[in-house]
Amino acid sequence: MSHVFHRHLHHQYPTAVAGDGPYLIDAQGRRYLDACGGAAVSCLGHSDPQVRNAIAEQVANMAYAHSSFFTSQPMEQLADFLVERAPEGIESVYFVSGGSEAVEAALKMARQYFLEIGQPQRRHVIARRQSYHGNTLGALATGGNAWRRRPFEPLLMEMTHVSPCYAYRGQESTETPEAYGERLAAELDAQILRLGPDSVMAFVAEPVVGATLGAVPAVPGYFRRVREICDRYGILLILDEVMCGMGRTGTLFAAEQEGIAADLTTVAKGLGAGYQPIGATLVSGRIRDAIAAGSGFFQHGHTYIGHATACAAALAVQQVIEERNLLARVRGLGEGLEQRLRDRFAEHPHVGDIRGRGLFWGLELVENRETKAPFDAGRGINGRIKAAAMQAGLMCYPAGGTVDGRQGDHILLAPPFILEEQHLDEVVDKLGTAI
Ligand code: PMP
Repeated sequence: MSHVFHRHLHHQYPTAVAGDGPYLIDAQGRRYLDACGGAAVSCLGHSDPQVRNAIAEQVANMAYAHSSFFTSQPMEQLADFLVERAPEGIESVYFVSGGSEAVEAALKMARQYFLEIGQPQRRHVIARRQSYHGNTLGALATGGNAWRRRPFEPLLMEMTHVSPCYAYRGQESTETPEAYGERLAAELDAQILRLGPDSVMAFVAEPVVGATLGAVPAVPGYFRRVREICDRYGILLILDEVMCGMGRTGTLFAAEQEGIAADLTTVAKGLGAGYQPIGATLVSGRIRDAIAAGSGFFQHGHTYIGHATACAAALAVQQVIEERNLLARVRGLGEGLEQRLRDRFAEHPHVGDIRGRGLFWGLELVENRETKAPFDAGRGINGRIKAAAMQAGLMCYPAGGTVDGRQGDHILLAPPFILEEQHLDEVVDKLGTAI
């Protein structure tokens, strides 16, 4: 028996031993086409030579230098790279080791910003229901999944959750997308007024919702209205691009497609593409300047902040994406994937919705297409599809989960940007078999 403490204590997983482009290979030699990048992580597949070389070179030079003594060249270069390409206003980058840490840093930076500018009463955070922002206690409090939060209550932060922008289930049949977006904006506005605008610190949202809903983009105009509301009340906007960022939706940052810029943006998964653990909180000049002019010290930190090897890996990943023009490929392959998904599943009696952007797609599985009734929670449909797909040699991500019997089952696809057209056929064929 393995001595690994795995989250699923009664489940046997195959042992992954090698990577070959978009495939992972287990100890028995079975190949799995990675159609979800694990969880939207492995955007360059599993064996990129340029990234491997960059890691080897960095380890040979200097693997790690603690951030209270040194910075490093890869850390400085990666920060420059991100700031040059980030939406307007972002001026510095705080490097961490993953998505939850990036969210924690964003929350604490928001809090410290208001302390520094003399508004200590701003503590309350508004996020959205059916959201996931990480598993550490602050990020967990932010997420709007009741079942994840419940065992750990009372949580550490003052939180309110509003409706997600989820057209398939939220938009009325008589309502335009714009009117739906307006209705959600009005709900947010009312919630802020109820709490008292001066007590609210931040609004947190994913531009395209990943792990909980399966690649759900917002309706047009929704995020511009959110930005206006935050500005009206002096509330910080934190965009969580841990899953949808770093090119996944066809632009480096998903917010670019919404025409807005956040005060703080979190990225992780695709940043290092799985070659090293890394995440980052992108910080607007206004927040950095306030902390610099105040205490001059961000009261937060971890041992592996700005890990040199992780930064070198992420820099190589991002350079490869840019040099090979892979974001254009994400957009082109994304169209091909969408077409194939629609051809194969649009009439499927249990596929209620197909949505996404770039190489980030979700299928929502329903008991009844007409009524949109989800399957019962106990049936674990998405987990069974994941298991059947693994049997067929395909990795797909069971988003959301059959929780409280309400959310439904979502299958998330987030394949590597290096796929060839024939891989798209393999993804859809094997997924069809599994479903
Ligand atoms: N935010 C979002 C939007 C995520 O999807 C995730 C991971 N699924 C996280 C935060 C947490 O990231 P990590 O698992 O790297 O801590």
